[in-house]
Amino acid sequence: METVDTVVIGAGVVGLAVARQLALAGHEVLILEAEASFGTQTSARNSEVIHSGLYYPTGSLKARLCVRGKDLLYRYCAERGVAHRRIGKLLIAAEEAELPALAGYERRAAANGVPLQPLTAAEIRRLEPAVRAVAGLYSQTTGILDSHGLMLALLGDAEQAGATLVTHTPVTGARIEPDGMVLSTGGDEPFELRCRWLVNEAGLRAQELARRIIGFPAEAVPPTFYAKGHYFTLSGHAPFRHLVYPMPDHAGLGIHVTLDLGGQCKFGPDVSGWPATPDYAFESGLEGKFYRAIRRYYPDLPDGALQPGYTGIRPKVTGPTEAAGDFIIQGPAAHGVAGLVNLFGIESPGLTACLALAEQVLAELAGYTNSQQVLSE
Ligand SMILES: Cc1cc2nc3c(=O)[nH]c(=O)nc-3n(C[C@H](O)[C@H](O)[C@H](O)COP(=O)(O)OP(=O)(O)OC[C@H]3O[C@@H](n4cnc5c(N)ncnc54)[C@H](O)[C@@H]3O)c2cc1C
Repeated sequence: METVDTVVIGAGVVGLAVARQLALAGHEVLILEAEASFGTQTSARNSEVIHSGLYYPTGSLKARLCVRGKDLLYRYCAERGVAHRRIGKLLIAAEEAELPALAGYERRAAANGVPLQPLTAAEIRRLEPAVRAVAGLYSQTTGILDSHGLMLALLGDAEQAGATLVTHTPVTGARIEPDGMVLSTGGDEPFELRCRWLVNEAGLRAQELARRIIGFPAEAVPPTFYAKGHYFTLSGHAPFRHLVYPMPDHAGLGIHVTLDLGGQCKFGPDVSGWPATPDYAFESGLEGKFYRAIRRYYPDLPDGALQPGYTGIRPKVTGPTEAAGDFIIQGPAAHGVAGLVNLFGIESPGLTACLALAEQVLAELAGYTNSQQVLSE
């Protein structure tokens, strides 16, 4: 049986960032990916927004890693030539009743260290003539990026530092042994592999995989929920120059405006279902809900302008009736298995936070018990 120092399961943006971090730190790294290529799942089905960090509860991993990750990501994109733009974002109250919620986000952003500028209705009209709102906040550190370009750069760095990506290789299970872990794979040519360190970054499948590790405490695996979101694209010219977000709803950020680097405008994602298993089918009958939600702040949206786009699925650790959960970076101190880190619930802002998440994973494996140590360095 072959032995490698470190295995990262999953070649999404976070798995690739982790593999890069570990390889640059001098570890021998093998990335095992079930699909035919890297970055085909959640990392290819998101909004490609570099979030500022204004939404998340102060002190949460989401807040801290989003703010740190945003800075790392802007620096990384500039250094590595990954296409991105600090396009800015308007968070708006479409009506008076939303003003208390807007004020709440302003306070939270200040506590999270996120700069925001208050906007009157007239200032919003000047910035975005198509948008109707009673007040808003401008986030100048919000941006957009080419997520595929980012993943290519991360993989390139990882490979340059000696890491290897093996595709078509689903990990089907593992067992914990005194001197490490033994993985079993499926695919056309199943094999077993021993490793000292293992990072489970299988995204939507991370909990399922953790449950298949023989010797791993089952009670340490959090519940799994999938919250599905749909995007509609806007046909024709986009009347927006910034990202525009209404007040968030329970499990998502509200049906908002995003622009990609090519200028294509899309709306979404909504939260339109909690499937028992990941399912990317585009549901019919959602147009009415989208037109109504968008016309609250963009009343001139023409009939027939929305076209079905794509779907994405949020990997969640809390269900539809619970408060949103935090990222879970579960290392040896939490579950007692040396050399193993599981990442659970890496929904938004996981793309923004990928480099900061990678720092945390290395810290867990290298023996830090207090993740704050790394954040404050
Ligand atoms: C609708 C939506 C919009 C979002 N928008 C944003 C945004 O604008 N900004 C932002 O910061 N974040 C956003 N996010 C979050 C962000 O996309 C994710 O946090 C990030 O992509 C997660 O990356 P990952 O590597 O953890 O997961 P994934 O990209 O899902 O990668 C996991 C990989 O593991 C592989 N895998 C699974 N099981 C196995 C196995 N058994 N063996 C081997 N490989 C396996 C999968 O094939 C996959 O390639 C959004 C998420 C969603 C759903």
